[in-house]
Amino acid sequence: MQKPLIGVIPLWDDQRESIWMLPGYLDGLRQAGGLPVILPLEADGDDLRQLYALCGGLLFTGGHDVDPSLYGGQAGPLCGPLCPRRDALERALFRQALEAGKPMLGICRGIQLFNVLLGGTLYQDLPTECPGAVPHRMAPPYDRPFHTVHLAEGGMLRGLLGREELGVNSYHHQGIRALAGPLRAEARAPDGLVETISCPEHPFLLAVQWHPEFSFRTDAASRAIFRAFVEHCAR
Ligand code: MN
Repeated sequence: MQKPLIGVIPLWDDQRESIWMLPGYLDGLRQAGGLPVILPLEADGDDLRQLYALCGGLLFTGGHDVDPSLYGGQAGPLCGPLCPRRDALERALFRQALEAGKPMLGICRGIQLFNVLLGGTLYQDLPTECPGAVPHRMAPPYDRPFHTVHLAEGGMLRGLLGREELGVNSYHHQGIRALAGPLRAEARAPDGLVETISCPEHPFLLAVQWHPEFSFRTDAASRAIFRAFVEHCAR
């Protein structure tokens, strides 16, 4: 049987002005039975449609902060560096995959991007905007739990993992403020922050605020997320 080809959004290095990739994203997809390919950052129109058509699914990786202008905001002093090229590429791919029902998995920036593109907003800096929040930015190593999340009853993630609570790693300073209307909160941190979303109207749209690409070797729940995504990409 052919493995499903999965398009992976590249990371962008501002200093080198170059795309790069964390091996964990690719390894996590491969161990789950997928065939990941890193997409180019510069593609539009017909080229992008052709690349998109090759992919059984799309992985939206972590990275730069989402441009606040996409949710009607302005970048405050603690908003991190932006990446207009990624914003543009991911908006185009997301729009096509949303309409076509193509599977999408979002990680970290991915959950924030999905929320924004569907009409939600973000906290630009959790430590200053949510002083009561639990710490969300751990020190390495990242392949260990840092805070818990509670999985929503009757949710997709609870059904997938068969548990109520999960220990997750955490390396983010932004987060979901207003949840987009089409999205469902699948898991929340102890401070109430949404850490997983799904879109009930879409065959497979799942995103997590934590980093399964760092934890899949030691954490069965991270592997189960990659596996569920790859299985949908194969359909
Ligand atoms: Mn967190």
